[in-house]
Amino acid sequence: MATLEQPTVILPRAPQGAFRNEPFTDFSQHHNAHAMKEALTRVGDQLGHEYPLIIGGERVRTSAKIESRNPARPAQIVGIHQKAGAEHADQAVRAALKAFETWRGFSADERASLLLHAAELIRERKFDFCAWLTYEVGKNWAEADADVGETIDFLEFYAREALRLAGATTPIQYPGERNELLYIPLGVGAVISPWNFPFAIMAGMTAAAIVTGNTVVMKPSSDSPTIAARFMEVLEEAGLPPGVVNFCPGSGASFGNAVLAHPKTRFIAFTGSKEVGLDINERAAKTQAGQIWIKRTILEMGGKDSIIVSTDADFDAAVAGVVASAFGFSGQKCSACSRAIVEEPIYDTFVERLRESVEKLTVGDPAENSNLGPVVSEGAMKTILDYIEIGKKEGRLLTGGKAVETPEKGYYIEPTVIVDVAPNARIAQEEIFGPVLAVIRARDFDHALEIANNTEFGLTGAVYSTDRAKLDHARREYHVGNLYFNRKCTGAMVGAHPFGGFNMSGTDSKAGGPDYLYLFTQAKSVAEKL
Ligand code: NAD
Repeated sequence: MATLEQPTVILPRAPQGAFRNEPFTDFSQHHNAHAMKEALTRVGDQLGHEYPLIIGGERVRTSAKIESRNPARPAQIVGIHQKAGAEHADQAVRAALKAFETWRGFSADERASLLLHAAELIRERKFDFCAWLTYEVGKNWAEADADVGETIDFLEFYAREALRLAGATTPIQYPGERNELLYIPLGVGAVISPWNFPFAIMAGMTAAAIVTGNTVVMKPSSDSPTIAARFMEVLEEAGLPPGVVNFCPGSGASFGNAVLAHPKTRFIAFTGSKEVGLDINERAAKTQAGQIWIKRTILEMGGKDSIIVSTDADFDAAVAGVVASAFGFSGQKCSACSRAIVEEPIYDTFVERLRESVEKLTVGDPAENSNLGPVVSEGAMKTILDYIEIGKKEGRLLTGGKAVETPEKGYYIEPTVIVDVAPNARIAQEEIFGPVLAVIRARDFDHALEIANNTEFGLTGAVYSTDRAKLDHARREYHVGNLYFNRKCTGAMVGAHPFGGFNMSGTDSKAGGPDYLYLFTQAKSVAEKL
């Protein structure tokens, strides 16, 4: 582990061939299921440990603590964390600033090697990381595996992208000159991440920032600090120099705001809700005394995503796609389908088939791999149940609608479908972030598209249709950052589906895409007369 006294060593690593997405684990294979059960036991024995803040490589304790609890059994403490307050912000930013002086001088090869080594370590311990996600945020096996796989993908992808950027040059060489274009780092960034992809998004934003030579203050969600602490361990094992990433769980309102208000903070990479994203945008825009730059914000925010089911759709595929997109991880994805927009001629049949399919879903402990685990917290549960009550007035409850009680008092909610919902109803407009699907009737395809575009968001969307003309129309008119045809609207794959939305879904950044690392750099043009 790196300390201030011992210089860190990053062992050289080169990308193993072209980028390929990490394969999903097939848990129907006995050996994989067995490995997952063993990991749950192994990680189960490590629950409840206390983790320090890590600032400039130093372990820091605070009197205030954050207790991360298993949403499936809230009496179980997953990890105890320090709670950084406003008073730690200056310390953390200064540690990052100090580290920046040397880290920015590391070569792209060294920085990429750090990411590739971290990816290797996570791959070796994949089942353990899945188990941590199951305990900390209630992901079932496949959802946990997808989160871990995406983490590995981000590390592998951004390592290659950083090497590509290091070799970039100007498109034209002016006669009589040598022209260069250097993508240099910005400085100190705040990385503020959500709990719903607590590994991939937290690690992805951090990796993009550091591989391009920046240093960061990383503030994970208070619902998922343990997985971030575990990532920090991996980074240190891979040779992370002190201060390059400063691990600081803490409250968004006090610590988060103090870091983003700091005059030495150069950029903020945030993923979370629209409300917090907009607040960060405003705060970051205010120039502080001593600040000599305009702070850059990379904001990835909420969604209200729709799937259009057309009369000519493959019916079975459409039902399966809507169910998977609406209820995977209990609908707690920014990309989740929260509105199915169905053309009139097939509406009634679709609704009936949807009900049959949803009623087959199992709700229960994600450690036992049920289809739907709990929602993340008591607060989330209350918000979602309140929306269900609103929905019952705005439409007809088709199935679900209630909390599911368990002896462990987990935060379970039945998969809920509300049909005959008007396009402008609250449950058709506001992000619920739970297992609640609104079904909306459309007169025809044009009407369906008009409804799909009628929210303030623009993150993901899908169309099920076999009609090429309809798909072409949607390609032009469906205004979302991630559009899918004849497949679910969740499960973006790094590299293949660069991810991020339009309008109130964010700043149009595309995580896992070829433009993403540019957001963490500034381009310096150098011309030398020959
Ligand atoms: P959230 O906005 O409540 O919190 C996100 C992070 O911001 C947390 O670390 C939180 O502590 C911090 N925070 C809260 N208030 C803050 C403040 N005033 N200043 C600074 N930081 C503050 O979101 P969440 O509940 O963790 O995550 C769910 C949301 O994230 C949903 O809206 C979802 O759609 C969105 N999301 C978007 C994407 C995307 O790529 N667009 C991906 C995942 C999740």
